[in-house]
Amino acid sequence: MSFQQLVECATHGQTRASYVCHHLLQSGQDGSMRPVNWVRDEDEHVNAWCDECEEYLQSHGAEWNDKTEAFAKIRMICENCFETLKATNPTKELT
Ligand SMILES: [Zn+2]
Ligand SMILES: [Zn+2]
Repeated sequence: MSFQQLVECATHGQTRASYVCHHLLQSGQDGSMRPVNWVRDEDEHVNAWCDECEEYLQSHGAEWNDKTEAFAKIRMICENCFETLKATNPTKELT
């Protein structure tokens, strides 16, 4: 059994957590569109980040570490909220 992190969402109740960069969360607030790069990790959690983070990541060794994570400021949100984000922004599923 893999471990699944849950979040308590004000809108959707208890759901599986998704990890997204803080820029994408801003899109929900300022209404500007940001391309969403996303994958599911081994525990089925969504990991998503914007093109800005992708660019930063690629120019800093293409690896998630303290530095790249500090840039992305990954936040935990509910998966349904992520679906909403995905529906309102251009997306790119990574493999
Ligand atoms: Zn970002
Ligand atoms: Zn939610």
